[in-house]
Amino acid sequence: GAAAVALSLAACSGEGAGSGTDTANQAPTDLTIGVSMPTQTSERWIADGNSVKEKLTAKGYKVDLQYAGDDIPTQSQQVDQMITQGADVLIIAAIDGTALSSQLQAAADKKIPVISYDRLIRDSKNVDFYVSFDNYKVGVAQATALLVGLGVLNKDGSEGTAKGPLNVELFAGSLDDNNAHFFFDGAMDTLKPFIDKGTLVVKSKQTSIEQAATLRWQQETAQKRMEDLLTSSYNDGAKVAGVLSPYDGLSRGIITALQNAGYKGKMPVVTGQDAEIASVKLINDGVQSSTVFKDTRLLAEQAVTAAEAFLKKATPEANDTKTYDNGVKVVPSYLLPVETVYKDDIQKSLIDSGYWTADEVKAGQ
Ligand code: BGC
Repeated sequence: GAAAVALSLAACSGEGAGSGTDTANQAPTDLTIGVSMPTQTSERWIADGNSVKEKLTAKGYKVDLQYAGDDIPTQSQQVDQMITQGADVLIIAAIDGTALSSQLQAAADKKIPVISYDRLIRDSKNVDFYVSFDNYKVGVAQATALLVGLGVLNKDGSEGTAKGPLNVELFAGSLDDNNAHFFFDGAMDTLKPFIDKGTLVVKSKQTSIEQAATLRWQQETAQKRMEDLLTSSYNDGAKVAGVLSPYDGLSRGIITALQNAGYKGKMPVVTGQDAEIASVKLINDGVQSSTVFKDTRLLAEQAVTAAEAFLKKATPEANDTKTYDNGVKVVPSYLLPVETVYKDDIQKSLIDSGYWTADEVKAGQ
């Protein structure tokens, strides 16, 4: 960080800030990690930010944690500021994966390593490492959970009793988020055989990611699209059996639209992601069918491990070096596994692991 200016080594590195300085020989207390998170509207990013900050602070590092309110210029400006204030490493979860190129160039000019957090930053060679989950498998898990919820498949993967035709609708995330494409690809590869043989029918015929997308992952946008789908494609009395939803916030918007249209009791099967508490409660109440749990504590841990490796001038350990091509280069990655959570799994996966307490899951009952 700024203290490095005093070191003689800093003289060789121009500005004195950033990892052009000899971070390997500096105390953590002299080093600053800039952590740029997209938004506080979804609790997962709050948990991510807090976990990363806590773990770095516990090791003595200074942390500059910023949230950008899902506004691209705000995030650009926050990252610019981290760089001018002497960040030694940047950990960034981008809003728009292609919007930070000039910031990343500025970071590279100062030899500040950049770790792309959860969402891959695209179209820049200045991304040094990527920590995430296996995002294709998230999509496979969501589609599988839809099929299991519908009874088309059993949990063990064997054929279930439901043969269809069953009406389903498909939702995708924000197109500027690289993950949204991995989720949808994984899901569609899994669903396509069932659509092709007529077990599943997408009654609206909206099967492309562009049609299914939800800008900035907004709950209200998903609710509105579900309302529109019900009006345009289900006004003949047909019923929705299931909805592929890639994120719990969208799932809740979809559920609200269904409930407003009169669905109650045994609800259509709605999938999700992130194990947000509001959705875990809905799963516990039998309203939402499932979610995909990604342990943000483990992701934060990986980000911290990678940041420390860079500060020590070492190369962080990757477990995937071929999947994540950002358009300019394949970014070495560390990918974590994901877990599907149905009602029966809440205790073991979420409560026993300390992610949520039993009281939080049951509050309000
Ligand atoms: C993350 C998901 C999250 C979504 C919306 C994605 O990039 O991987 O966990 O649900 O963004 O915030």
